[in-house]
Formats: sequence, structure tokens, C-alpha cells
Amino acid sequence: MRRFPGVRSHPWDLGPPQVHHRDAYAEASETPFWLDRPGAPPPCASLAGDAECDLAIVGGGLSGLWAALLAKQDDPGRDVVLIEAKRIAHAASGRNGGFFMSSLTHGAGNGMARFPDEMPALERLGLDSFAAAVDSIRDLGIECDLELNGDLAVALEPHEEAWLADEAETLRALGHEVDLLDGEAVRAEIASPTFRGGMWQHTGAGLLDPAKLCWGLQRAALDLGVQALEDTPVSGLRRRGAGIELRSPGGRLRARQVLLATSAFPALVRSVRRRIVPVYDYVLVTEPLDESRLRSLAWSRRQGVSDSANQFHYYRLTADDRVLWGGYDAIYHYASSMGAAREQRERSFARLSQHLMATFPQLEGVRFSHRWGGAIDTCSRFFAFQGTTHGGRVGHTVGHTGLGVGASRFGARVALDLLAERETEATKLRAIRGRPFPFPPEPLRWAAIELTRNRLAAADRRAGRRGVWLRVLDRLGLGYES
Ligand SMILES: Cc1cc2nc3c(=O)[nH]c(=O)nc-3n(C[C@H](O)[C@H](O)[C@H](O)COP(=O)(O)OP(=O)(O)OC[C@H]3O[C@@H](n4cnc5c(N)ncnc54)[C@H](O)[C@@H]3O)c2cc1C
Repeated sequence: MRRFPGVRSHPWDLGPPQVHHRDAYAEASETPFWLDRPGAPPPCASLAGDAECDLAIVGGGLSGLWAALLAKQDDPGRDVVLIEAKRIAHAASGRNGGFFMSSLTHGAGNGMARFPDEMPALERLGLDSFAAAVDSIRDLGIECDLELNGDLAVALEPHEEAWLADEAETLRALGHEVDLLDGEAVRAEIASPTFRGGMWQHTGAGLLDPAKLCWGLQRAALDLGVQALEDTPVSGLRRRGAGIELRSPGGRLRARQVLLATSAFPALVRSVRRRIVPVYDYVLVTEPLDESRLRSLAWSRRQGVSDSANQFHYYRLTADDRVLWGGYDAIYHYASSMGAAREQRERSFARLSQHLMATFPQLEGVRFSHRWGGAIDTCSRFFAFQGTTHGGRVGHTVGHTGLGVGASRFGARVALDLLAERETEATKLRAIRGRPFPFPPEPLRWAAIELTRNRLAAADRRAGRRGVWLRVLDRLGLGYES
């Protein structure tokens, strides 16, 4: 391959994917692995006719499910209705990597860049919320294959080792238990010839089965008296008397208050809609590994792993010893277009397959059983925001930007507190009271996102050095580092 002066060889300069990389997923199911198994609660009714409730929660993912459960626990007498356009857990919450993290700010580095003075409080609140989620999972008897094995970030290039050392220092200063591993030590944890170093975060990090968590939370919420409606897309909301009216094809629901947990889907409130773009991320899952392949990985402590460039992969073992391998590409479609056709992307799957084989050559020949994509609710500060509109009658919690499995519980708690006008330590923080900068309208939106994606990839090829565009974004507080 031709090289330009100053541009070094990069771990993913592998040439185009080959036929065997594509063959490996040719027969894979297009249903997300987590949702392709029995265990979902029976379908719920859809809205038919007119109804009333105290609190309507729109969105049946982890944000909406935690909100429904917490709302009933706060006040068992309150009528709570959870409304989902399709089936509960069908979107990001049932199709993610299952990395369960305490960070509320999409990593300590992103938080330190934006709210350094509030980070000790944000990190502590994140750890408290993480512990409360673990307690709920245990107390409610939710079997979601929770493994609290920590999280391993690996360096594939020299400059990434320096980044990990900095991050380890930051995390330790914020109270985390962290080990830095040299090349030999990280390869002893997991056998990949590409690993040069690693950072193993022991606190506030684990893995779980996200669909089983959603289904368990759904059952717990229904047991407390929450009413769930599926196949009920809400097409609009408006003030009606002292409350809010939600419209759907089957009828109208009038609620005293509404909480929007609609993630990457078009928000029902304009000021929220302008602050979210759907960015698609893709995942492959292998067939269960046989004994000898599993042994060849030496992955005995089963940590979740991610590599450390701007374009990064995340990977893990499932409970039945498959490898889940996702990330790298992050695809935005013009005009925030979404839909089932976006959930399959040949180019991304081919690249993921190739990158897995390069990371673990001992898996050459393994076949993938599942391939899928999902929309990430991306905002310009890269972590979720909560707030209210319509005179305090409509709340929202959206914008997790790909790290919401753990943070969704905290977001739901804050949104409920804002709706109740309850002042807490969290609601007083600038990080919580603030909102991300809105995205510009099209065609500027598409151009800015594509340029940023392109420049992040370029920075990865230049030992992480950020060019002019990324430095401008950093100065405006809009920059992204993984
Ligand atoms: C491929 C992928 C991998 C990821 N990996 C991880 C990971 O490993 N760890 C991690 O922490 N995070 C990860 N994430 C992000 C994480 O999945 C989400 O942040 C988290 O699930 C929060 O979900 P949510 O409830 O806010 O959104 P969702 O699960 O998307 O739920 C929103 C729901 O709202 C419904 N809805 C929207 N509009 C309407 C309407 N008008 N009427 C009725 N219903 C409506 C939708 O149908 C949807 O079911 C990943 C995401 C993706 C896509």
C-alpha cells in the first residue's frame, strides 16, 4: 500500500476484506442475538380508545423501564402507563453490547474536559447509581447474567499506552480501582498479538445480558401495577387542561405528566429533537466457541474489552461463550433518517469480521451466528441530558450516546425528580442543569458530522494528533475523544 510521509502504518490498514471475512457472516441471523431467544414477557395490549393516567412514560427501553419502576416505588398509588411504539426492548436497549458502566459522562476524560469541578460528585453519583442498579437486579431476582469483572481498555499503538496511563491517573483520583498492564500482562489476560498495553478498571464496570435486564425490569414494573402498552406509537403531544394529551393511531392518552425516554427516535418536543442525532453502530456475534478456541483466547476473567482509538471496537464473551464484537464504524444518514434497512450494513459487517480475525488470528474460520445494527442517541456533549418543558409537565431523559446501559437508571431518577420539582444533589449540578449544543439543520448537519468522522479517523492515523477542525470543536466544547 502506498504511504505518505508522516503517515504511519495503522493496525487496521489491512486492505479490503476478503471473501472468507464475508462468508463468515453470510448465514447470520439479522435479529439481535439477545432478542433471538425465548424469555420475553407476553406482548402487551396497544392503546385502544381514550384513557387517562397520572404519569405517561414514552419509550420502552432501559430509560423508560427504570423510570416506570422508580415512579411506582416512589409513589405506589400513582397510575403509571409505559407506552412503546413497537415491542419493549426492541431498540438500543435490546441490541447493545451489554457493557454495564457507572460513568455518567461517557468516560472520565469526557467529563473532565467539560465539568472538571463537578466530576468527583458525578463519579460518586454514578457509582451510587450503579450499586443501586446491582441491588435492584438482585432484590428483584432479575437473572441477566451480570458479571462484575471490570473493564479492560487495550492499547494497540504506542500513543494509546500514554492515553491509558493518563486515564488511569484520572480514574484513581476519582476513587476507582485501576491497574495498568504492560504488553505481557495484558496478553496474559487475553491472548491477542495486537495488544501492547491495557488498563483494567475494577470498579463500576461489568457485563450483563441487556434483553434479560429489560424483560426483568418489565416484569417487576408490571408486578407493581405499571400498565404497559406496546405497538402504540405516539405521534404528538399537546397541552390539554392541566395535563398533556398524547395522540396515537389507536386513541388518546391524557396524563398529568409525561416523561419522554425516546432515545434516538424523533423526540416529540422540538427543543429536544434538535439536540439528538441517530448514529448507527454495528455488531457481530460468533457461534459458541468450542473448548479449544476458547482456551486459545485465555480470556478466563471474562472482562469486557475495548480498544482505545477514536474509532474503537468493543468485545466480550456472552454467557454461552460466544464473542460479541462491535463498534468501529459510526454511521449517520442524511436528515437523521432511520428504519429497519439501516440496521444491516454489509461494509461494516465485512470490516468487523476482518478486524476480529486480525485481533484473534486463532479464531480464523469461526462463523458468526448474528449480525445487526442499532441507532445511538448522540448529542454534542456525548452524555445524557434531562429537563422539562411545557411548564414542568413534560420531562425527558435522552442522549446517552452509546453508554446508557448503566446511566439509564440515573437519567430516569433525575427526570422523575425534575418532574416532581424535587431538589437533589444531582439536580443542582451544572452538568445536569445544562443542555448540549443543538445540531445545525441540514445540509450543514450532515456535512459537519461527516467531516468530524473523517477527521477523527485521520487523527487515529496520525498517532492521535488532532487537526484544526477537531481542535476548533474541542475549544467550543463539542469535541469527541473515545
Ligand atoms: C449497537 C449498540 C451498542 C451499544 N452498546 C452499549 C454498551 O455496551 N453499553 C452501554 O452502556 N450502552 C450501549 N449502547 C447504548 C445503550 O443501548 C442505550 O444508551 C440504552 O439502551 C438506553 O436506552 P433508552 O431506553 O434510552 O433507548 P432505547 O432502548 O432506544 O428505547 C427507546 C424506545 O422509545 C421508543 N419510542 C421512540 N419514540 C416513540 C414514540 N413516539 N412513541 C412510542 N415509543 C417511542 C422506541 O421504540 C424505543 O423502544 C449501545 C447502543 C447500540 C445501538
